[in-house]
Amino acid sequence: MSAPLKIKPLAESVVNKIAAGEIIVAPVNALKEMMENSIDAGATTIDILVKEGGLKILQITDNGSGIDKSDLPILCQRFTTSKLKTFEDLSSIQTYGFRGEALASISHIARVTVTTKTKNEACAWKVSYSAGKMMGEPKPIAGRDGTIILVEDLFYNVQSRLRSLRSPSDELAKILDCVGRYAINSKNVGFSCKKFGESQFALTVRNEADVRERVQAVFGRGTASNLIELEVPEIQGLGASASGQVSTLNFINKKSISPIFFINNRLVTCDPLRRALYQTYSSHLAKGNRPFIYLNVTIRPELVDVNVHPTKREVRFLHDEEIIEQIASQLADVLSNCDTSRSFKTTS
Ligand code: ADP
Ligand code: MG
Repeated sequence: MSAPLKIKPLAESVVNKIAAGEIIVAPVNALKEMMENSIDAGATTIDILVKEGGLKILQITDNGSGIDKSDLPILCQRFTTSKLKTFEDLSSIQTYGFRGEALASISHIARVTVTTKTKNEACAWKVSYSAGKMMGEPKPIAGRDGTIILVEDLFYNVQSRLRSLRSPSDELAKILDCVGRYAINSKNVGFSCKKFGESQFALTVRNEADVRERVQAVFGRGTASNLIELEVPEIQGLGASASGQVSTLNFINKKSISPIFFINNRLVTCDPLRRALYQTYSSHLAKGNRPFIYLNVTIRPELVDVNVHPTKREVRFLHDEEIIEQIASQLADVLSNCDTSRSFKTTS
């Protein structure tokens, strides 16, 4: 029998790199965190630049509040945030961020440069970060109100991760999908996304666009012209409601877009909800034909647990079965109306 190995604490830098790898699995995770920060900062335009699927360059420019110069020294330190104060605040949190981990994580696995200007400053301040720490003093430069975060050489020090993400075009596709989904759900926010070195945008959405224009900008006219509204009014006693756009029965989904679900404005995958809504469609649609579904479910914040997954991809909420059943039943009503109006049209 061998002697037990000695238990020793991990070096802080190792802990931080491990934590970073859980939050930032691929460039799209870094992008999502930064887009959320921009929206939290009240931005109405978010411009994204991507080189090599975000592995070489991922840059987000927003016109939000900017960051106070005095906050720059701890910006990329772990667990520093302007959003959450007490654990209890988590139950009523209205912002996307709350953990103060995103920028810290990114700075442990990439080179981060921040340029930011608040409206009270005469100029912008620019500074770089590495492993949570500010590198030198912020330098004054010309710039507009808002923040530019430049992330370079993502995973440069995590070779195993870099090897597992071989295709920049796959990573770009994930980024465009994520930007598109946020663009659809973020009223009053304009988005653009461009591949480095190209003059054409891969995606643009105006900040004034309504939800249908957003769907059109992201998924094309074919999808946008076959939508009906799905509104689920406040469900009695459950503190939940939902609203969104779903495809009519005339829609043929060639691209099979997975459902776009937001819960309290957080992009989530919710398999029970997806199954229930696909089931509702299945009696109306030809076999193998998938609907388009965009739904933002609003649930009283105290009934939702947002802190169940490092990438915040999953949330848990109370009364999930009843809420999902109500949404599916509302969808069934909307579809049967649309079915009768369709057969009416063809028989008349
Ligand atoms: P969290 O969003 O959980 O607070 P982050 O690491 O994502 O943690 O960001 C840390 C802090 O940096 C935020 O709380 C916010 O004050 C500031 N911040 C980050 N990005 C921006 C931005 N684009 N505009 C303004 N402030 C920002
Ligand atoms: Mg954040």
